[in-house]
Amino acid sequence: MNIVILGRPGAGKGTQAKLIEDHFGLVHLSTGDLLRSAQSQDTNLAREISQRIDRGNFVSDELIMSVVEQELSRRPSKGYIFDGIPRTENQAQLLDDLLEKLGLSAGVVIELRIDAETARQRLLDRGQKEHRKDDNAETIAHRLEVYKSETEPLIRHYQTSGKLTQIDGAGSPKAVFGLIRELIDQTSAS
Ligand code: ADP
Repeated sequence: MNIVILGRPGAGKGTQAKLIEDHFGLVHLSTGDLLRSAQSQDTNLAREISQRIDRGNFVSDELIMSVVEQELSRRPSKGYIFDGIPRTENQAQLLDDLLEKLGLSAGVVIELRIDAETARQRLLDRGQKEHRKDDNAETIAHRLEVYKSETEPLIRHYQTSGKLTQIDGAGSPKAVFGLIRELIDQTSAS
């Protein structure tokens, strides 16, 4: 089974994806993690990635799709959790096309819901603890704006297609995971 996990920056996508990975034996594919590890190399591509992500701007669709495709072939699995992709309607189409080419499909789409103020606070806290360059007040505000204009339409898109399940992301990681586990168990049983 393949799972797409959506939600504002700070919603807990990475935390939940890890828990899903451990419990269900799926591979967690985080585009943010993949870009940050590419960023740490000393190449022109790395500098280009840094210029975009440190300011909270997206990298190109072409780049992100090639990163995702490479990772899928590098880590064969019975299923993946897509965290950080799609972020736009165009990426949703590109991801569907790629999955179809590989004989896969997105079975479950989860939106983790938290309000913008909770998101801002969580990201500020994370910035202090983990020193992520994009977790500062100005870049956080920008990422939340970009989320609203680019990614929220995508949520409406999945909503009308009936694929989306919205889950309250405000509880503890364990409580939120309980809700997700129930959803995945139900989906695999049906
Ligand atoms: P968050 O969801 O908290 O913003 P991520 O770790 O998922 O954090 O992503 C960090 C940054 O990586 C994004 O702000 C963006 O610059 C870049 N990025 C991640 N995924 C994509 C994507 N699918 N398309 C374009 N850029 C991306």
